[in-house]
Amino acid sequence: MLFSELGLGPDVLRAIEDKGYTQPTPIQEQAIPCVLQGLDVLGCAQTGTGKTAGFTLPMISILASGRARARMPRSLILEPTRELAAQVAESFETYGKYNKLSMALLIGGENFSDQVKKLDRGVDVLIATPGRLIDLFERGNIMLNDIKIFVIDEADRMLDMGFIPDIERIVSKLPKTRQTLFFSATMPPEIRRLADAFLTQPKEVTVAPPASPAETVTQAMVLVNEMDKRKALRHLLNTEDVKNAFIFCNRKRDIAVLQKSLERHGFNVGALHGDMVQSKRTETLDLFKKGDISLLVCSDVAARGIDVQGLSHVFNFDVPLSPDDYVHRIGRTGRAGKQGRAFMLASPDDVKLVGAITRLIKREIPMIAIDGLETVEFGDEDAVRPRRGGRGGPAGRDRSEQRGRGGREERPAREERAERPAREERAERPAREDRAERPQREERAERPQRDDRPQREERQPRESLAAAEARRNNGDNRRDRDRNRSRRRDEDDDDGVIIGFGDHMPAFMLRSARPRVVTEVVDNTTDTSIESSQED
Ligand code: AMP
Repeated sequence: MLFSELGLGPDVLRAIEDKGYTQPTPIQEQAIPCVLQGLDVLGCAQTGTGKTAGFTLPMISILASGRARARMPRSLILEPTRELAAQVAESFETYGKYNKLSMALLIGGENFSDQVKKLDRGVDVLIATPGRLIDLFERGNIMLNDIKIFVIDEADRMLDMGFIPDIERIVSKLPKTRQTLFFSATMPPEIRRLADAFLTQPKEVTVAPPASPAETVTQAMVLVNEMDKRKALRHLLNTEDVKNAFIFCNRKRDIAVLQKSLERHGFNVGALHGDMVQSKRTETLDLFKKGDISLLVCSDVAARGIDVQGLSHVFNFDVPLSPDDYVHRIGRTGRAGKQGRAFMLASPDDVKLVGAITRLIKREIPMIAIDGLETVEFGDEDAVRPRRGGRGGPAGRDRSEQRGRGGREERPAREERAERPAREERAERPAREDRAERPQREERAERPQRDDRPQREERQPRESLAAAEARRNNGDNRRDRDRNRSRRRDEDDDDGVIIGFGDHMPAFMLRSARPRVVTEVVDNTTDTSIESSQED
């Protein structure tokens, strides 16, 4: 099939020709005619399938007629990360170069007033991350009641990142009569539920079985002791024909350590993770795309959607905690028909995580040995207890499988969670200072609940420690005891005794009589060991 047979406008066809695309990809072939007909679309497609053009091309054709009013965008695209949002904006620029559409990119970490100025001039296409959009909406800088086309991209990633409440809120502000395009790499039940709620008689288009790595990626795994991982990585970097590579770590602090270690060994390496300021993230990614940096040590913020042409290698320095992430990470290479190579460094404790990956991708990852490194073996998968704090963590069963069981997702240990994309991307939401500027914040400070509460002097005098202990020991207030128990669970998981100060004790005053060292000792050990072997 040819692009000219899909019903796109002549300006868009010219831009496609300039770009050098000869044929639409399967998702484009299926989605473009539906979007042009004004139908809602439910697309099950991963990045790398050409899905961005699948919705941007027909949107440009549709929006070519009509004009946007100030602060009232005509279309809205929600993306989970700033990088993806920026990438979609680039696509609009490329494919819309012969159309005079105005576009605004609303992402955290960028100047508010520049974004507001753009909105004031009226935009046809608004591309946003949910947090920044809600902030601007709450500040009254934007109205969403003229949205004709609404796109939710990477819906399953939005779910993982905890953005669904934000999205539901945004959808509640949109006009009921609109066209909705909903894309997700996987369709777990929660995503299906959202699709049912947001879409009207959608046309379903599915292009690749969910979570299957591309055949163009050659995979291999090296099983080594945790302490030998950097040596193994350097060996691979030196022996493989690495043009450029993403090196994925699970934890942000490991990213910095690994970057420094590689620098010391003379590699040209940068870092990318969600705690970096946006300008640095953009600059680093640009340098990497231009080839000024050849290795990028990164978190899962780079795992989805980031499109670096011709990335030769992906290294999983850590086995990803979720098998889905493995597929997304290695999917950065072997794109657009090119060959790519993906290596994973696993230690014996990663047996469960590796098992979850092989079950998901339905194949074994070939194991390779590296001369000079101690030979180790995976133990029995059932015998490995999830580690807390250190690398590895609980068994990474497929998330959709976990969800399917109806229970809560098995969550990684606290430390590890902090490094998961969800947390990173939450950290990407507008900085606290930004939020502090919002009038809502002041209003919140004056919420009636607070005012309703008795003033400090009027409240019950605080109990002494002894009295509180005695009361607790007597068991005369079960509710208090339960409350403290649950607080303790939140604070710490050890069996320590709570030192209490009364009824209205703030959480930060709750501490265990037993020092909280368990998690930290594990972590420090890991870190120290990493640090101490940095001379290698
Ligand atoms: P996406 O899945 O949207 O992230 O696109 C993945 C890559 O495929 C991008 O680099 C696009 O430029 C490229 N691409 C999209 N459509 C086509 C096409 N019809 N022919 C060749 N490459 C394409």
